[in-house]
Amino acid sequence: MASSTRKRVAVIGGGISGLAAAHRVHELDPGIELLLFETEPHLGGVIQTSRREGFLWEWGPDNFITQLPWGLQLCRRIGLEPELLPTDSQHRQAFVVRRGRLRKIPQGFVVMAPSRIWPVIATPILSPWGKLRMACEFLLPARRTQEDESLASFVIRRFGRETYDRLVQPLVGGIYTGDPHQLSVQMTMPRFVEMERSHGSLIRAIWSRRSAGTSATTGTSGARYSMFVAPRGGMSCLTEALADRLPEDSVRTAAPVVKITPRQAEGWTLTTGGAHPETQDVDAVVVAIPGPAASRLLAEVDPVCSQRLGEIHYASCSIASLAYRRDQIAHRLDGFGFVVPLREQRRILSGSFSSVKYAGRAPEGRVLLRAFIGGACQPELAELPDDELIATAHREFTELLGIRGEPQQVQVSRHPQTMAQYYVGHKQRIEQIESRLARYPGLFMAGNAFEGVGIPQCIHRGEKTAEQVVRSLQGEASEALVSGESACRR
Ligand SMILES: Cc1cc2nc3c(=O)[nH]c(=O)nc-3n(C[C@H](O)[C@H](O)[C@H](O)COP(=O)(O)OP(=O)(O)OC[C@H]3O[C@@H](n4cnc5c(N)ncnc54)[C@H](O)[C@@H]3O)c2cc1C
Repeated sequence: MASSTRKRVAVIGGGISGLAAAHRVHELDPGIELLLFETEPHLGGVIQTSRREGFLWEWGPDNFITQLPWGLQLCRRIGLEPELLPTDSQHRQAFVVRRGRLRKIPQGFVVMAPSRIWPVIATPILSPWGKLRMACEFLLPARRTQEDESLASFVIRRFGRETYDRLVQPLVGGIYTGDPHQLSVQMTMPRFVEMERSHGSLIRAIWSRRSAGTSATTGTSGARYSMFVAPRGGMSCLTEALADRLPEDSVRTAAPVVKITPRQAEGWTLTTGGAHPETQDVDAVVVAIPGPAASRLLAEVDPVCSQRLGEIHYASCSIASLAYRRDQIAHRLDGFGFVVPLREQRRILSGSFSSVKYAGRAPEGRVLLRAFIGGACQPELAELPDDELIATAHREFTELLGIRGEPQQVQVSRHPQTMAQYYVGHKQRIEQIESRLARYPGLFMAGNAFEGVGIPQCIHRGEKTAEQVVRSLQGEASEALVSGESACRR
């Protein structure tokens, strides 16, 4: 145990995972002394919002889903729920690029499967043969083996190549900035694997759930937009609200942890770099940073765990945000954005109509658009210099949305190696990491490599980890009490 009798917990990483973990520890036991270390001068990790010239610029994520309850539940507990905006109900649809034009994703087509017949029959995105092949999914037998497979293999097997190339690949590329030929279907879309197992067919499963009234897919396309929310003042409101609730003096920014070592008796010693290096002894530590960084930190603690962490792939992407006057854009902007199939050979992954999606993102008469560039399939594009990222986004928007003239304001944000990629075999790798961690009392991990990359899943993992931390310390405390009592009796 560390020097004082008060238990001390350190959290490494000030993204949403680390903040959720730190906040939960404090919520459960305010008597625990908390320390949160963050490399950057600011908290939030990939979540950053700024306001400039009347626009609200999201540097990374711009919303989160409420179907997984953990984000919403946290907002409720910290009093942020009244500030959550729904997406604009008039425009809950998205587009996919087909032969250089924006086409509506068929209503009811969610990520990989259709829940309605007519929108699919009517869509110009698929050929008659592609539609017929998709419909055959209904009749195809389920796969017998339980073995993991790639998301691409799963979709091509069930729905055919055309549905994959023209719809699923761009939608998945938009969510994970990933390569579906590498991504594990079990880890990224377990819901659909379960549908195949339980009903023999995804279409059958969706339709039976619809008739039972449990499907939430009607009236949406691409993503279930009715289930997404964002704080009125931007995503940073969430991370700032969490940081505000942490004990005074618990947060150290510009303080990268460069070393962690187990203490001889119990607990851990942390060493930080930066301008004010320090060492701290703590009873427990939560490592809530991306896999490669965690791998470096654990290299001397447990080389096997470190190696497995280092094997987790991360994709990079950059975002070019461009603001225009509404009258510069010919497109109706009657949706939330579009995704781009790789086959279209364009230089952006997707485009988001940020100011259509949520109110208050742009002044009257202006529009804010974001282009996602790079990802696992075009990594070199994410590294283009700022002016080329802006020029690329502007060129693509001009061609696809009919834009006249130059953007009025621009901004670039970069996310190198931040999006965990759950490749085939990821589940086993995580199990190995967890089983190695179990050897080290007081050492815990959270972050987007574990139970999902979305904000709700990161919150959930962070909070669950915090609960384990508190339980383990309270267990220690009650053991100490018990041994203290028996010592008194002796
Ligand atoms: C561009 C982009 C858009 C996204 N959009 C959405 C979206 O709209 N909705 C959604 O639900 N999800 C979205 N995601 C996913 C989600 O935002 C992330 O998975 C999640 O925010 C990751 O949080 P994290 O805390 O695990 O990691 P991070 O945000 O990466 O935070 C990790 C932190 O650890 C710090 N750190 C690293 N090493 C050390 C060290 N040695 N010592 C101290 N600190 C260290 C880093 O500086 C960083 O601040 C998006 C992701 C990206 C990249």
